[in-house]
Amino acid sequence: RMYKRQTICRRDIDNLNVPFLAIYESLIPPEEEKVKQTQLLALLKKLVSKEWPEAQLYIYGSCANSFGVSKSDIDICLAIEEANMEKSDILMKLADILQSDNLQNVQALTRARVPIVKLMDPATGISCDICINNLLAVVNTKLLWDYAQIDARLRQLAFIIKHWAKSRGVNETYHGTLSSYAYVLMCIHFLQQRRPAILPCLQEMESTYSVKVDNVNCAYFDKVRTLADFGRPNKETIAQLVWGFFYYWAYCHDYANSVISVRTGSIISKREKDWTRRVGNDRHLICIEDPFEISHDLGRVVDKRSIKVLREEFERAADIMQYDPNPCVKLFEPY
Ligand code: ATP
Ligand code: MG
Repeated sequence: RMYKRQTICRRDIDNLNVPFLAIYESLIPPEEEKVKQTQLLALLKKLVSKEWPEAQLYIYGSCANSFGVSKSDIDICLAIEEANMEKSDILMKLADILQSDNLQNVQALTRARVPIVKLMDPATGISCDICINNLLAVVNTKLLWDYAQIDARLRQLAFIIKHWAKSRGVNETYHGTLSSYAYVLMCIHFLQQRRPAILPCLQEMESTYSVKVDNVNCAYFDKVRTLADFGRPNKETIAQLVWGFFYYWAYCHDYANSVISVRTGSIISKREKDWTRRVGNDRHLICIEDPFEISHDLGRVVDKRSIKVLREEFERAADIMQYDPNPCVKLFEPY
């Protein structure tokens, strides 16, 4: 399948910049939404600190990594040192504390893969998921946010790719397709690979930020304001990059041997990671290394059936970008 086509980008590609940017703009959450999220977080902090004065609440995921579209749920992490309490008991107690106030549908899901308390705030209509001590997610949220500050094209590309993935039904980990987090990493990797590069590799640079979380050293260069001109030498437009992204995943990525690694800013081999065969449920059919938990393949949810679906979707999108007279409609057609 690789290099099946020697296609070059269509000549009228830049006519698509305006419609793509319009889609991007329409997905950005309005300021009121941010205000409501902050209000809900303040309410939750108040309730939690009554019971656990030492505990902290952090927003992570799309509401804090700058890749959140309008009407996203919020992901919150409760950081708490409760040495003698089971996680499930903390969640039950948390649900209890929140139940007693004006919140609705407070549920503790203690058996989920990531156990959480789910709730809805009727005042704002916002739903949120609260997990316990998932600090790696808080740190990878900061990494994504920092990358987004370097070049505006990352956020534009990621919004368009997430919108495409949701429209096409390939953003559902419980059906074996990829998480939003995985898609954003694919976008970062793609922009690190452009020549000239649009994004640097922050983890390969001198570290200015360093924390140890769950025995993982998370360190990288986070003075991203100094990198505001990094992507300048590359003049590719958003339309060219959307085209390039799909072309890359449809025809250029070596699924059999390669792992994409934002951590190293490059491709590494499956052999090097010992990701060459199925272990338990991890099949490694598309390999996306987590930047901090490096033994973690974000593609592990993908199975024999869903890899086919995914690759066909990448090819469909690449072909639409290449040949369709009106790609902005066809690309996002519901599946
Ligand atoms: P959406 O807009 O679809 O809600 P999101 O950015 O919140 O997007 P999710 O995939 O829901 O993305 O993930 C939320 C956060 O949880 C991510 O930003 C990341 O910090 C963390 N996360 C998600 N999946 C994983 C994973 N497999 N491994 C490690 N962290 C993950
Ligand atoms: Mg989310």
